[in-house]
Amino acid sequence: MRLLIVEDEKRLAVSLAKGLRAEGFAVDVVHDGLEGLHLAGEGTYDLIVLDIMLPGMNGYRVCAGLRAAGNDVPILMLTAKDGEYDEAEGLDTGADDYLTKPFSYVVLVARVKALLRRRGSAGASPVLRIGTLTVDTATRRVHRADTEVALTAKEFAVLEQLAVRAGQIVGKPEILEHVWDFAYDGDPNIIEVYISALRRKLGATTIQTVRGAGYRLVAV
Ligand code: CA
Repeated sequence: MRLLIVEDEKRLAVSLAKGLRAEGFAVDVVHDGLEGLHLAGEGTYDLIVLDIMLPGMNGYRVCAGLRAAGNDVPILMLTAKDGEYDEAEGLDTGADDYLTKPFSYVVLVARVKALLRRRGSAGASPVLRIGTLTVDTATRRVHRADTEVALTAKEFAVLEQLAVRAGQIVGKPEILEHVWDFAYDGDPNIIEVYISALRRKLGATTIQTVRGAGYRLVAV
């Protein structure tokens, strides 16, 4: 799951990003409305956290711009406490939910997950079944037959990318893009560390290596 935060209060943006990454999301951050509209328009995000008062272009206009372009990515708007946010206007421009500052981090995460869940249930089922493996993308729990398998947030995120395309080859760049951030400039082979951990926990034959191409999750 990949999120975009558009927020010009840099300290807030950085701490939100840090917290959401700890939950296993890949997070990109921009501080300007126009840049936010541009990045969001590229369409690779699962959810956007959007401040209202922004340099470049305000959040209402960013939101309206995305909707006018047919982009239905879930949008959670952030607003200051002084009634800056006009709920009618916000929902009118197509925001899915809003949160008043200052908010607790726990509440933000709950709202983000609720929006992603809502999206999940409107589209494909959030529970993926691959052979005896069950991956619940809403609760982020994994079972092998009836036994729960404990995964770290990043392990889950890597598995999720493979599970949504079970049986197909998923390349390292695609996994990196969805699980790490665009700012990640380390070694793409970091993925191998997570693949090894997943094989250890899920069974060695679960994830095949397709030399030079990527990985494939198979039913066992
Ligand atoms: Ca602001």
